[in-house]
Amino acid sequence: MKKLFLLGSILCILLSSSCKAGDSQKNVTVSGFMLNTYVSITLYETDNEELAKQALDICNEYEQLFSRTIPDSALSRLNNTKEAVDADESLYELIQTGIYYSDLTEGALDITIEPFISLWDISGTAPQVPDTQQIKALLPFVNYKHIQLTEENHTITLHNNASIDLGAIAKGYIADKIRKFLVDNGVTHGIIRLGGNILCINDKPDGSDFIIGIQKPFDEAAVPVLTLKIDDMSVVTSGTYERYFMENDRIYHHIIDPKTGIPSDSGLISVTIISEDSVAGDCLSTACLIMGEEKARKLLDSIDGVCGILIDEQMNITYSEGAAQFVR
Ligand code: ADP
Ligand code: MG
Repeated sequence: MKKLFLLGSILCILLSSSCKAGDSQKNVTVSGFMLNTYVSITLYETDNEELAKQALDICNEYEQLFSRTIPDSALSRLNNTKEAVDADESLYELIQTGIYYSDLTEGALDITIEPFISLWDISGTAPQVPDTQQIKALLPFVNYKHIQLTEENHTITLHNNASIDLGAIAKGYIADKIRKFLVDNGVTHGIIRLGGNILCINDKPDGSDFIIGIQKPFDEAAVPVLTLKIDDMSVVTSGTYERYFMENDRIYHHIIDPKTGIPSDSGLISVTIISEDSVAGDCLSTACLIMGEEKARKLLDSIDGVCGILIDEQMNITYSEGAAQFVR
């Protein structure tokens, strides 16, 4: 693996020595609450606020497609009717990507997790621990192999009453699309933040890397447990501390093990993935959290251009191959 990273480091040195002097100081930031999270986009060396706003609008457009809770979204319609003929291209592409990573992670990621997300309703107003029987009754419905994609007419069919939730992967996909839009429109330095997904367009105008903090889990002050130096890469963190409720001194968080129907209890509480594409990072950070340290490291070491930083319940930090070089 790690070919990409070596190349990345060389580029990084070249850039830091070549684009220092005389660069313009202009930059623009736009932000809002979208995709159920805080979103912000900063563009450097430009004051084109209109472009930044258009990038923000991309979030809204995709939310109308991928949201599980907007009743008329393309995803809701699919979940209701169980079939989308000539489906929206982005929805088709994202579901295809979801199936790819569900396979790669041996079902730790499973985009048919929707029945459990609705049952637990962890992001809702009154979440509570469901009855064991209720959980058991839903287990047969959760299996990404129940999704059929038919390439010829771009049809998505959900068998066995399957239902999809794209919460674990949509932000990564959207971040990648926003980056493409901005780069196509001439942006050379920028940073896109969609909640726990951060995507850097190149480095900063002065040639220095972006500095990205990894939050200390359950720390109210949000002090970073460590910081990363990032140039033109995505950093995605999934953590049990991001959305949870407590009952009888136990934490019930929003990342559900599809094999059990209950919040993952793998020993990991935070996984950060550094990768070129944010959708890969989004899929893998969620999956690795469920897989636990050993399996997660093995998987990450087997994928070119991807590495991870794992934090367990005792706050021990471990790195997959290639990750330590990003630590500041
Ligand atoms: P966040 O959305 O907080 O950034 P993640 O990317 O890890 O964090 O995604 C968590 C979301 O993914 C959950 O809120 C839920 O919508 C969905 N989800 C939970 N467990 C799984 C799973 N095993 N496979 C696929 N999606 C999941
Ligand atoms: Mg994710």
